[in-house]
Amino acid sequence: MLFGKKENYLGKDKEVAFLIEKETERQKTSLEMIPSENHTSRAVRQALGSLLTDKYAEGYPGKRYYAGLEYYDKLEDLCRERAKKLFNAVHANVQPYSGSPANHAVYYALLEKGDTVMGMSLPHGGHLTHGWKVNFSSKYYNSVQYGVDQTHFIDFKEAERLAKECHPKLIWVGATAYPRIFDWERFSFIADSVGAYLAADIAHIAGLVAGGVHPSPAPFAHIMTTTTHKTLRGPRGGMIMVTEKGIQKDPDLPKKIDKAVFPGLQGGPHENAIAAIAVCLKEASQESFKKYAEQIVKNSKTLAGELLKYGFKLVSGGTDNHLILVDLRNKNISGPEAQDILEKAGMTMNKNSIPFDPNPPFNPSGLRMGTPAITTRGMKEQEMIKIAGWINEVINDKNSCSKVREEVRELCSRFPLPE
Ligand SMILES: *Cc1c(COP(=O)(O)O)cnc(C)c1O
Repeated sequence: MLFGKKENYLGKDKEVAFLIEKETERQKTSLEMIPSENHTSRAVRQALGSLLTDKYAEGYPGKRYYAGLEYYDKLEDLCRERAKKLFNAVHANVQPYSGSPANHAVYYALLEKGDTVMGMSLPHGGHLTHGWKVNFSSKYYNSVQYGVDQTHFIDFKEAERLAKECHPKLIWVGATAYPRIFDWERFSFIADSVGAYLAADIAHIAGLVAGGVHPSPAPFAHIMTTTTHKTLRGPRGGMIMVTEKGIQKDPDLPKKIDKAVFPGLQGGPHENAIAAIAVCLKEASQESFKKYAEQIVKNSKTLAGELLKYGFKLVSGGTDNHLILVDLRNKNISGPEAQDILEKAGMTMNKNSIPFDPNPPFNPSGLRMGTPAITTRGMKEQEMIKIAGWINEVINDKNSCSKVREEVRELCSRFPLPE
């Protein structure tokens, strides 16, 4: 018996229990369509909520600073082995607290202050930590940024020109709002031609890579970083992996990465999260997860196709992955307004800048949505057709919110959250 007889210990803290209950109800009755979010299994949450949160485990398995860590060592080793196997890596560090700290550690391991780093710019879909101007990654390093061209696909010519001109030591590939496949090989030519490290940040698409519906960067990148809580469907966390190619470029890479995470940047690892990551990695290695990943993409393509039929404009014209970026400019509604009324109708998605957005970041023209969480609930193409219809209805007529809210509630009642 893992947790004792009574499950509701929180009943003693009525305020917190009440708010968790309310949030549970909200998740059950609405469509979670923010593409970086998902619904975790009970197994993941059980590991996360276990007493593994109790102990300090600074260091790595076999080289800890505290006593009593026999089982913590075994768990972290198990997690590292599962990560290496699933993503075809030679070394894995599973201690980063989240995706951003994982990326910080890559900088800290490989670059000196002032060195040049190249990444995709935030307004074109890249992540803050890839060198965006308000982030540490552009304040402590010399950041150059590539983006997409007028077709909204990555502008490789520009990336190549920048690399030749600026000689970055590190090149990031990965994004938070890019609906297309990454051509890892093409980036590896660019990185190799200037002697740069190539880091693939698969935070958004890790589950698609694990499920075989997005090409793996393992043969092409030196380093892979990821979050564990997006399409991978684990607890909030991060990982850094070194590939065979990475070891060939620099045999000390695993040591450098490990030292950068601890003692370079972090203290005690969150071993309860690491246990939950181990659980999600096992789930993601199963046949059922391949089906899940395939369905995420099928659903995303169906949703995109339906939205196109309703006259929505999509950035890049469609999607290859789990997310869709809608350009709302022909719909006479701003990103924030759309986000707001869709939330009222029970569909949670987020306002987002689009490439070459004429409007400022706090009032962007785009709406970003994705299918990972609703696919976890078992929804398929038929449900996507309905959802596209509701999105269209609500955006064309704000007064339909409460009617659609009830229809969403009814749909959700037939697709429970995972056990
Ligand atoms: C989400 C994301 C991150 C950061 O992850 P956090 O856990 O929010 O710190 C890093 N890179 C990319 C590409 C992401 O999408």
